[in-house]
Order: sequence, then structure tokens, then C-alpha cells
Amino acid sequence: MIERTLILVKPDGVQRGLVGEIVSRFEKRGLKLVGMKMIWIDKDFSKKHYAAHLDKKMYPMLEEFITSAPVVAIVIEGIHAVESVRKVVGSTEPKSAPLGTIRGDYAHVSYDYADKKQISIKNLVHASGNKEEAEQEISLWFGVDELYTYEASHDKHVI
Ligand code: GDP
Ligand code: MG
Repeated sequence: MIERTLILVKPDGVQRGLVGEIVSRFEKRGLKLVGMKMIWIDKDFSKKHYAAHLDKKMYPMLEEFITSAPVVAIVIEGIHAVESVRKVVGSTEPKSAPLGTIRGDYAHVSYDYADKKQISIKNLVHASGNKEEAEQEISLWFGVDELYTYEASHDKHVI
């Protein structure tokens, strides 16, 4: 039941100075950080990360966006972490993401607007969509020696 999942603070989150705000939302929920680094990915890496979207019309926009500035990659651990993190992040389109979620609180752009401008929707974070995706993405972004097992107060007070 204890899972690990991948989060990226995307270029818009890094450039807007929202890394701290975003990370603190996960920390406050009692989720444990087990890996974190800043990285500026290239087009080849984008193709690996977004392999499932490669054939879609939106892929070139996604690639342009995700390679436009550095991202902060984070691995988070917790009970049902994949689902729990997606809940904190909110739904894909900021316009319809509920208030109280990262995408709902810090962005408001709509699909309509992004599609018309031919840009990827700027929604601040990526979070793995399911357990299989989480495992694949964690092994793509992190080496085993970059992930840590340690005791946090969470082990006593949260889980
Ligand atoms: P996520 O798992 O919630 O991030 O959403 P997806 O995996 O479906 O899509 C990956 C990313 O592509 C999203 O986070 C958006 O940045 C972007 N995106 C998804 N759907 C659309 C769309 O219909 N239009 C545009 N412009 N961007 C999109
Ligand atoms: Mg996705």
C-alpha cells in the first residue's frame, strides 16, 4: 500500500517561483520526499517521458514546453501515494481544477485558450497517472542511488 510516485514542477512552476509552495503542499499532507533534483531535459528525454503522448497532435507543444526551462523532479512516498498526489495536484485543465488543488489555486488557463494559441496547457506540475506509470517514470528520472529510505516524523505521526 505504501507507494512511490513521480512529480515534476514544470517550467512554469519553476519560473514563477512556486517550487516551495508546491513542495510544501505534499509535505503538509504527510507525504515523504525520497528524492529531489533540478534538471533541464532535452528533446530526447522528453520523448521518453511523454512516450504515451508521442503520436498525439499535442506532442510538439508538450515537448516545446517541458524543454523550455529546468524542472524540479521529486519522488514522493506515502500510502496510496499515486492517487493521493493526483488529488493534491488536481485535474489537467486549471480552469476546471477544483480550488484547493495546486492546478486550481495557482493557474486558471483553459483547454480552449491553450489549443487556440497552440501551446501546451501550463498546469505547473506533472504527477504519475497510475502505479505502472509511476514505476516507469521513477526509473527514467532517478537512479536507485538518488532515492533515500530514512525515518521521518511521518512514520510516527502520519502513517
Ligand atoms: P496530466 O496527466 O494531468 O498531466 O495530463 P495528460 O497526461 O493527459 O497530458 C500531459 C500534459 O499535456 C498536460 O499536463 C498538459 O500540460 C498537456 N495537455 C493535455 N491535454 C491537452 C490539451 O487538450 N491541450 C493542450 N494544449 N495541452 C494539453
Ligand atoms: Mg499524464
